[in-house]
Amino acid sequence: MPTHHHHKPTHNEDEYFARQDAELIKARRAALDQQRLRVERASHFMKCPKCGADLVEKKFHAMVIDVCPECKGTWMDAGELEMLGYVKRSEISRFIGSLFGLK
Ligand SMILES: [Zn+2]
Repeated sequence: MPTHHHHKPTHNEDEYFARQDAELIKARRAALDQQRLRVERASHFMKCPKCGADLVEKKFHAMVIDVCPECKGTWMDAGELEMLGYVKRSEISRFIGSLFGLK
């Protein structure tokens, strides 16, 4: 008897489509994850990590410090924290005073 390979190609076809589906699902999943990450990031953008209130940007020398008017939290990144080391202490305390003195 000759081989009947080409008489039943459905198995391979199914496998092919299953693989296609898996790729498609993987791509869709990745896209959804990306989207969720974007929404997640956007919802936290300029929000206080502690209480969720809108942060206010305060400029001090070369630094931009995010201040929460609600809980008085202050947020800066590591680079800004480092810059703070080069600023005179008297200026820092005056700045901090101005942050929490006004409103
Ligand atoms: Zn806050």
